[in-house]
Amino acid sequence: MNLIFLGAPGSGKGTQAEQANAKYNIPAVSTGNMLREAVKNGTEAGLKAKSFMDAGGLVPDEVVIGILKDRIALDDAKKGFILDGFPRTVEQAEALERMGVNIDKVINIHVDDEKIIARMSGRRVCSDCGASYHIEYKPVKTEGKCDLCPGAVVLRDDDKPETVLTRLKTYHEKTAPLISFYESRGKLKTVVGQQEIADTTKLTFEAIDA
Ligand code: AMP
Repeated sequence: MNLIFLGAPGSGKGTQAEQANAKYNIPAVSTGNMLREAVKNGTEAGLKAKSFMDAGGLVPDEVVIGILKDRIALDDAKKGFILDGFPRTVEQAEALERMGVNIDKVINIHVDDEKIIARMSGRRVCSDCGASYHIEYKPVKTEGKCDLCPGAVVLRDDDKPETVLTRLKTYHEKTAPLISFYESRGKLKTVVGQQEIADTTKLTFEAIDA
């Protein structure tokens, strides 16, 4: 089963992808996490990506598509995968089709912009493993520490208020057109993001199983 989780930054798609990973036992592939890792490790892709990420824009297609292609070629993705944060442009979606990847369903998690802005300031991420948290909705068990690894839990540079608005604008201009792209292919299921993570997870699983 190959799934795409679509949604604005802060819609909760990463969190829901982690939940779906646990339930369906297929890897959640987050291009954002892979890019942050590449930046941290100072790889060639990371060096190219950093300025675009810091500015709240999109990393050039050739960088992201290369990373994604290598990741889904790994053994653990043979039985299926959940794409979180890819594709983010119609060009990337077309590249996926050209790779011969068949997508079963696209789960579009919808949250209004005002709610997103309010949510993002509370979002935290593990600087080591990339696990996502929220100070109110999904707090860590020990202050500042990841529940899953010894990493520190931090505010992402691009979650700062000034960058959040740019990222939302980028989403509406470049990524939201994918909603009609996948609707026209009969693959789209929209889930309205709820206040409680567990409520959204329930709706997400129903959309996947429908
Ligand atoms: P995310 O963690 O999905 O919010 O991604 C963080 C940042 O990584 C985005 O704001 C982009 O700069 C970059 N990024 C992640 N995925 C992609 C993608 N598919 N295409 C271009 N840039 C991406």
